[in-house]
Amino acid sequence: MNFIQTRGCDATKVKSVTFSEAILNPIASFGGLYVPEALPSLGEAFLKKHLNSSYKELASDMLSRFEIDIDKHVIDEALNLYDRFDNPKNPVPVVRVKENLYVSELYHGPTRAFKDMALQPFGVVLSSIAQKRDEHYLILAATSGDTGPAALETFKNRANVQVACLYPDGGTSDVQRLQMVTEDAKNLKVIGINGVFDDAQNALKRLLASDDFKSALKKKNILLSAANSVNFGRIIFQIIYHIHSYLELVRQGAILMGEKVYLNVPSGNFGNALGAYYAWKMGLGVEKIIISSNENNVLTKLIKTGKYDLRDLHVVSTTSPAMDILKSSNVERILFDMFGFERTKELMQDLESKNFYELNADELSKLQESFDADFCNGDEGKKYIKDTFYNNGYLMDPHTATCLKSYETCSNPKIKTIAYSTAEWTKFSPVIANALTGEVDAQDIIALESISKEAKLEIPAMVKALFTKPIVQKVVIEKEDIEKEILKFI
Ligand SMILES: *Cc1c(COP(=O)(O)O)cnc(C)c1O
Repeated sequence: MNFIQTRGCDATKVKSVTFSEAILNPIASFGGLYVPEALPSLGEAFLKKHLNSSYKELASDMLSRFEIDIDKHVIDEALNLYDRFDNPKNPVPVVRVKENLYVSELYHGPTRAFKDMALQPFGVVLSSIAQKRDEHYLILAATSGDTGPAALETFKNRANVQVACLYPDGGTSDVQRLQMVTEDAKNLKVIGINGVFDDAQNALKRLLASDDFKSALKKKNILLSAANSVNFGRIIFQIIYHIHSYLELVRQGAILMGEKVYLNVPSGNFGNALGAYYAWKMGLGVEKIIISSNENNVLTKLIKTGKYDLRDLHVVSTTSPAMDILKSSNVERILFDMFGFERTKELMQDLESKNFYELNADELSKLQESFDADFCNGDEGKKYIKDTFYNNGYLMDPHTATCLKSYETCSNPKIKTIAYSTAEWTKFSPVIANALTGEVDAQDIIALESISKEAKLEIPAMVKALFTKPIVQKVVIEKEDIEKEILKFI
């Protein structure tokens, strides 16, 4: 299957490209994104066939239906990375936490957050394409916390790829920072920046667009790519766990095959939610996808009013920082799917030039047939963490907690909900410690210990080990010096 472009095709690009091409060069004509020409239709026969399959068997068959230009042995090698999750037999446990409410836990991988679901296999796929083409790639990543560790972990010591990862010094949690600065491999460079996440992100965008930078790389025979969340090489692995979670409910006797469920997704850049939408279109029984946000609630407003409005809007820092996003990139793929490339181009150009677009009434009602949304503030989130769940025996992180408000306001309680849990408690421990015991501004190590004591949970060995590992990535620089630093590294 080939991939086409959400804003149509200009004269400089070809009309459709292979999967390999779309993941190596993810920016399409007019600044658009690549999407599959058509989604494979799986239907109930596929679901029935996989009722007793392992995660990897399901994944392998689903990916084969996309007919992408990646050899089966590479896909299988990529999927073997799910064996590094806590339980290789079931990398994504789905647990019932309340009458009709199930949590799909996407955080059991090596970096304790859901970015591993896609980035773990993606590293193998990208490295194998580079080797096959006999090319070398520099992968740039900018992170506010979760993408960086997951990207470093997956590309560590892989052939034909190097990674430069930019993070805001002081802008991530201790655990996230330690996961990056203790990564010791010749092909990885971690660079702290005196600034905020936007400075890192802007530097990355500038470098990706800079001809000077690209030609400096070319002299060393290196090409440039990015591992950001618009890359379809990540999205494709995010369809699988929605199908898996649904089948888990059937296996647990919670639903009958074909019965409809809500999928409730804590959203930032909309990759997770897009995976849910594609799974639905491919044949999953879904009533609606519910988009949960924090105080940065542009998505709630889009889905409730049809207006994507960034005018006079600034990102606010919240207790669920991985969702502190205003330009939610993957929404564009939904616009394309519903309204076509001409309209998508028009809307996205409005967003770029006016910081605003508005769907018409027909478009809004179409969007609302598939999606509903609500947002939750930090105090409400902490209440859900402590009163609603912890006191009833389940501990969740602040990103997952945003799903609870929309669960109450957007769903019919008679229909089952799968809510997605995107991070382990260890990753955002100061917020959770505050919710459970009231302690404020604790450092991660203190918060981890107090939660561990209070909730009688072991701190996972890989998290504990971070605090005694040597720090090997010591560079913290001004944003003006990023390019120089990266060129020195390669
Ligand atoms: C990245 C992330 C999200 C947001 O996911 P999107 O696919 O960008 O919508 C939510 N929670 C956590 C913990 C994350 O790391």
